[in-house]
Amino acid sequence: MTDGRRRHVEVAVIGSGFAGLAAAVQLKRQGIESFTVYEKAGDLGGTWRDNTYPGAGCDIPSHLYSYTFAPYRDSRVRYPGQPQVLEYLRACAREHGVERHVRYGTEITAVRYDDGRGQWTLHTADGRTHTADVVVSAVGQLHRPNVPALPGAEDFEGTAFHTARWDHGHPLEGRSVAVVGTGSSAAQVVPAIAGRVRRLYVHQRTANWVLPKPDARFHPALSLLLRTVPAAHRAYRSLLFRRSEAVLLPALRGNRLIGGLLRTMALRHLRAGVPDPGLRARLTPDFAVGCKRIVLSSDWYPTLARDHVEVVTQPIARVTQKGIETSDGVHREVDTIIYATGFRTTEFLAPMTVTGREGRDLGEVWRGGARAYLGIHVPDFPNLFLMYGPNTNLGHNSVILTLEAQAVHIARCVALLADRRAAGAGAVMEATPQALQAWQERVDEGSAHTVWAGSCTSWFKTGDGVLTNNWPFRTTLYQRLTARPDPAAFRRPPPPGGTSAGAGGLRHVPDQPTRTEL
Ligand code: NAP
Repeated sequence: MTDGRRRHVEVAVIGSGFAGLAAAVQLKRQGIESFTVYEKAGDLGGTWRDNTYPGAGCDIPSHLYSYTFAPYRDSRVRYPGQPQVLEYLRACAREHGVERHVRYGTEITAVRYDDGRGQWTLHTADGRTHTADVVVSAVGQLHRPNVPALPGAEDFEGTAFHTARWDHGHPLEGRSVAVVGTGSSAAQVVPAIAGRVRRLYVHQRTANWVLPKPDARFHPALSLLLRTVPAAHRAYRSLLFRRSEAVLLPALRGNRLIGGLLRTMALRHLRAGVPDPGLRARLTPDFAVGCKRIVLSSDWYPTLARDHVEVVTQPIARVTQKGIETSDGVHREVDTIIYATGFRTTEFLAPMTVTGREGRDLGEVWRGGARAYLGIHVPDFPNLFLMYGPNTNLGHNSVILTLEAQAVHIARCVALLADRRAAGAGAVMEATPQALQAWQERVDEGSAHTVWAGSCTSWFKTGDGVLTNNWPFRTTLYQRLTARPDPAAFRRPPPPGGTSAGAGGLRHVPDQPTRTEL
């Protein structure tokens, strides 16, 4: 909580999804009202605003997929659908007074640090500029649709779109539809549309491990308890959290016993849903459970086994005017192609260009893979803070937990900068290269022992196999490490009126911790 002071530095938050809204709330808690949230769209919500495809929902339980400062009280649903998550976010923005800070329809295309003035200039898509002392990037990892450049795709005469850009004006009733991809999005959209279409082809490049989604409704008594007794709500959330840390994380970190159990469960789930042994064989992955993100779905397999649904495993050779031709020369006529092909996840802040001290380009700095100390700070990019940055995605638990830890950390850093400025000292915060290197060695060492490092491809790693997206340790460790800025990890800010910079200069940390740990 704030210590009651009003603090002033100009902060630009880019993006109004879960991360940007968390940052806004935590800035306010530190007494900082001088911030603007820039949002390219006309509504908030990030990926939950963009993904409106039929069946879209969250496979993390709602009581955990929510901020600690805004408990999710609607206990009728165990797993929220997309409309519920979006409504939750809108309510949070309203109730925490964030909405008036959001500037909609403002796409930031470039941010540039001015060495002389120690400020950032933000350039918008419509040619305007804004300045800020601090930039918080909250653009997400799952925001740029990956539409594969399939040969002939531009000649297709039907309708084609990505799951994150759903064409609601295109009725699917009675149509012949191809879905490309078999990740979490496909596993939701395919069962949701199968009953409406005449023919459905599911183009699978790689089979995924699928576990049933335990989405039974709460018993009315439990539902009432969760809604009305805060301690019961906290206990349930804590149970969900601890279960994921205790079961899923060890499996992802290579525990063979738990990995084997998950594999057995997944194979049993496959057998129960797909009677045809030939199809079952094609749907059986050849990599460790968890190497790619595990799909949670109880209706994916039964849908694939339906008569009018065909799983196509021959690679796509090309798109024609009338359909899709696979490498065995078979042409399947369709009038609709749905790309459930995921997102461009390893490019992080792109397509925004980010220019730091002495003209350094973040895209260049990250050429071999994105890296940031705590996933938040990049040397040579002063007062730039990243949310959901490199190595901060969770493969085993609710990512809202990491986002909230980042928001608290960043708000504390900004409060510190404001206090330094008020005292006439340099208000610059920049991680040292040594801090980043030590951090990255630790993260890479941890990642090397995970199943993600296995043979599969996934959105967690670059084309060269560098694991840039996931956090390989306990969530509580991340929360602890980010709880307050470590003075030794930052360059010394210039003294009043001075210019020199060395390491280890942060003198104090403002106020008491805000509790985000479970
Ligand atoms: P994804 O997991 O990256 O899956 C993309 C799919 O498209 C994969 O099957 C991939 O095949 C395929 N693909 C990509 N390019 C292709 C090409 N050129 N030809 C053929 N197939 C191609 O994307 P997603 O399903 O949108 O999910 C992304 C993430 O969003 C999830 O992992 C999850 O974190 C989140 N999400 C969560 C939920 C949920 O809560 N249930 C729902 C949706 C999304 P390969 O495997 O061979 O690359």
